[in-house]
Amino acid sequence: MNKEKKIEVNTKGCKACGICYALCPQGVLDKDHMGKVVVKNPDACTQCRICEDHCPDYCIKIGG
Ligand code: SF4
Ligand code: SF4
Repeated sequence: MNKEKKIEVNTKGCKACGICYALCPQGVLDKDHMGKVVVKNPDACTQCRICEDHCPDYCIKIGG
């Protein structure tokens, strides 16, 4: 099992809206200095897909 493959983010497509890291209940996601999404704590992800469902630009893929 490759845990890093569990959460894929398209950083180029991310417009730094902040929705995903505001909504993640597990503190998995964070922002970089540009406000774009970064995966900070992938092991805590429960694959609830809240982030995937709410990103307006479909930048997050959960579960490969
Ligand atoms: S799937 Fe759920 S737990 Fe995992 S990063 Fe997205 S919001 Fe957080
Ligand atoms: S919800 Fe999507 S566009 Fe907004 S910060 Fe997260 S990945 Fe970027």
